[in-house]
Amino acid sequence: MAFKLDKSATAFAEAKRYIPGGVNSPVRSFRGVGGTPPFIAKAAGSHIFDIDGNKYIDYVGSWGPMILGHAHPEVIAELSDALQRGTSYGAPTLLETELARLITEAVPSMELVRFVNSGTEATMSVLRLARAYTQRNKIVKFAGCYHGHHDSLLVKAGSGATTLGVPDSPGVPDTIAGNTITVEYNDAQALTTVFERHGQDIAAVIIEPVPGNMGLILPRPGYLEQVRALTEKYGALLIFDEVMSGFRVAYGGAQELYDITPDLTCLGKVIGGGLPVGAYGGRRDIMEHIAPAGPVYQAGTLSGNPLAMTAGLATLRLIAQNPDFYEKLTSMTTALCAGVQAQALAFGFNFQFHQVGSMFGIFFTDKPVYDYNSAKRSDVGAFNTFFHAMLEQGVYLAPSQFEAAFMSSAHTHTDIGATIAASGNAFARVAEY
Ligand code: PMP
Repeated sequence: MAFKLDKSATAFAEAKRYIPGGVNSPVRSFRGVGGTPPFIAKAAGSHIFDIDGNKYIDYVGSWGPMILGHAHPEVIAELSDALQRGTSYGAPTLLETELARLITEAVPSMELVRFVNSGTEATMSVLRLARAYTQRNKIVKFAGCYHGHHDSLLVKAGSGATTLGVPDSPGVPDTIAGNTITVEYNDAQALTTVFERHGQDIAAVIIEPVPGNMGLILPRPGYLEQVRALTEKYGALLIFDEVMSGFRVAYGGAQELYDITPDLTCLGKVIGGGLPVGAYGGRRDIMEHIAPAGPVYQAGTLSGNPLAMTAGLATLRLIAQNPDFYEKLTSMTTALCAGVQAQALAFGFNFQFHQVGSMFGIFFTDKPVYDYNSAKRSDVGAFNTFFHAMLEQGVYLAPSQFEAAFMSSAHTHTDIGATIAASGNAFARVAEY
């Protein structure tokens, strides 16, 4: 049967009548790759299904949260149970303490945890805390790292901001953006220079330890250690944004994998099991500045929501039950990447394949990629051709060269085999493009 998105096209046109661009988050619109975004009807395991009746092997996983695959029966059972008890109370529950306890055990640098509703909220709140604690105003971030869409961090941001070519959004006041210093990732000398110039004014360095928002970039050996040493030397806080990498690259996140202890950490995605959640936490003496323990204000009507806590708890418990969870997920991902890379090489494409645990990505360039500038050398047209060829064959990738892909524990060897085979046909299309 020929691949069709007729119903999705109609739905997209209708959505645009009521929603800016027809979507509630920009990359979903396929602006970067062109064409019609499939409108999703349901998801199960490693697959998503659109309203046109197409079925896809899903490597987006709702942009990271679905590490167990979609609609995991035990997560759904616990959620169904929780639903009977109401959807929100705006008062403390045992669930919040339990999820906070699990997180502090998994990520020991997080001695206290505050739940919020998104990754954006987590990074926004953590900057206020860092500024209050250090009584300094400047923040350092890295070009191509995305930490959410609030003013201080929407400066040279990756993800949708890169795809759409608007790294600096209109509406962000100069006075706020002016306190954000941007440095190239993986360049310790550039960071050193910034500290030499502004060291006394820098409240914090916020970093995706494994950047996944300009495609997937790996830290050079020793780089994260250098970032840690510089922040310590100048009395700035080190904030690891592990919204994507937390409970994804290892149970204890990238900080476990690379053995670095940040002062503060942001989480999201996996810890909410597909419901809206974010969290920030870290050293007790810093976190105790948060209201009501301290004077730094931050609050939320739905924060610690019982459904979100339930989905997060179920997800983390299921992961923790299986001692080989990350090993298996990583080896499946390695098998997929090796298979797809072999297909690329068969066409003479020496593209850059990156992988950390179950996060992976391909840059359509034969040059090494290690930061935002080198990522931007990728042939976006080639990626777009590949993307559409995969979609038509039932493989759903993020609709942008500048996003990472995610494997879940629901993906099977059959899924991997089908994906590798599809990639061969897709590279054939790239060869013609
Ligand atoms: N930080 C990182 C590293 C992210 O990847 C994202 C979202 N992709 C965010 C923050 C923002 O999270 P949210 O979309 O939940 O606001």
